[in-house]
Amino acid sequence: MSKGLIRNIGIIVSGDLESPFCDGDAVLIVDGKIAAVGREKELDAAGADTIIDAMGTTLIPGLIDSHIHPVFGDFTPRQRTVDFLDSELNGGVTTMISAGEVHTPGRPRDIVGLKALAIAAQRAYANFRPSGAKIMAGAPVPEPGMEEQDFADLARAGVTLIGEIGLGGVRTPDLGAPMVKWAKKHGMMVTIHTGGPSLPGSSAIDAAAVIEIDPHIVGHINGGTTSMSKTDIDKLVRGTTLAIEIVHCGNPLTALYAIEAAMDAGAVPRVIIGNDAPSGTGVVPLGILRTLCLLTACTSLPPEQAVALAAGNTAKLYKLNRGLIGLGREADLVLCDAPSGSVGKDAIAALKAGDIPGISMVMTDGVVRTLRSRNTPPAARAAKLEKGSVGGLLGGH
Ligand SMILES: [Zn+2]
Repeated sequence: MSKGLIRNIGIIVSGDLESPFCDGDAVLIVDGKIAAVGREKELDAAGADTIIDAMGTTLIPGLIDSHIHPVFGDFTPRQRTVDFLDSELNGGVTTMISAGEVHTPGRPRDIVGLKALAIAAQRAYANFRPSGAKIMAGAPVPEPGMEEQDFADLARAGVTLIGEIGLGGVRTPDLGAPMVKWAKKHGMMVTIHTGGPSLPGSSAIDAAAVIEIDPHIVGHINGGTTSMSKTDIDKLVRGTTLAIEIVHCGNPLTALYAIEAAMDAGAVPRVIIGNDAPSGTGVVPLGILRTLCLLTACTSLPPEQAVALAAGNTAKLYKLNRGLIGLGREADLVLCDAPSGSVGKDAIAALKAGDIPGISMVMTDGVVRTLRSRNTPPAARAAKLEKGSVGGLLGGH
C-alpha cells in the first residue's frame, strides 16, 4: 500500500462548479486515490511514504484539456516539437483528450486506414504516459463512406472518441448526422469543428449544421481559429443542451461572449476548456491556465468556478474519476500560488487579477511528477517534498 499526505494547504479548490471549495488543510492519498480531505490532525497519516508541505498554497485538481492534437509519443510534427505533453503537464494539465490525430504525416483518409490509425493511437497512448500524464487518444476523423459497422468495429477495438467532424470529408448534416447516431449508439463521445475552416479547402460549420449533426460537444465555439458569429453562439448556448468548448487557440472576444452567454443562460455546467494545440498557433503549455485567466479576469466568473470548467465539468462529461477533489477520486492534483510579484495574494486572487499562478507540484495517481514547474512563473510560495521522491515517465518510448 502506498500512502501520501499533502499538509499545510491554504485553499482547496474542489473542481466542482456547484461546491467549489473543500474544507480542510490536508489531503490523504492511499494507493493513488484520495482517501480523506480535512484537517491534518484528524487524518491518519501514519506510515506515509510521501509527505508534501504545501506551504499555505492552493490545491486544485489536475486540469483536463478537452482538445489536443497528438500524433505519437511526446512529439508533434505540426510544430516539430518534442516534450509538448510533458510541457503541458508543467502547466497543471494532467489529462489531455484528443480531438483527432490530424497532424499524422500522410494521415490515411481511406476507411481501413483511418480506423487503423485511431486504434493504434488509442493503444499507444494507453501505454505511454509522459511524466504520468493521462492522454486519451484514438479519435478518428470521419470520412464519407463510413457505415455503422465501422463505428461498431472501432468501439469493439476500444476507441471511445470521435475526432472533430469537419476536419475530414464529412462536413454536412446529410453525411454527418447518421454517423453521429452510429457513434453514439456504440458509446463514443463526438466533437465537431465549428466556425471557419482551419485547413484550406474545408468550409465553415455554423450553428444550424451543428444542431442537425447533433454531436456531444460544440468544439471550440470561439473558433479554431476563426469563430462563428455571436448569433450562432447564442443559438448553441441558449437553444441547445450540448457541451460548449472554449479554447485557447481561438478568438478571445467570442470566448468572453460565450462564457457571458453561458452565465446568463445558466449553462456554465456545460462549458469545458481546451487548448487546441498543437496547431498552427503553436504549442501552448500554459494554454489552459491562460484561458482560465481570461475568462475570470475579464468577466464576473469567480476564479474557483473557472477552475471547475477545466476539471469537474469535463470529468463529468467524459465520466472520468478525476478532475474533482473528493473521496475515491484519482489523486491527480496541483499545488499553486500567486506568482512572485502578483497583486494577487494567492492563486485564486492571481487568476482573478489576470496573472497565471505559479505551480510548485503536479501529481498523478498520488505520484509526484514535478515540483517547481518549468513553465509557469515562479510561485511566491513553493511546496516542499518532505518525504518521498519524484516519479517520471510511464511506458517509455
Ligand atoms: Zn477544429
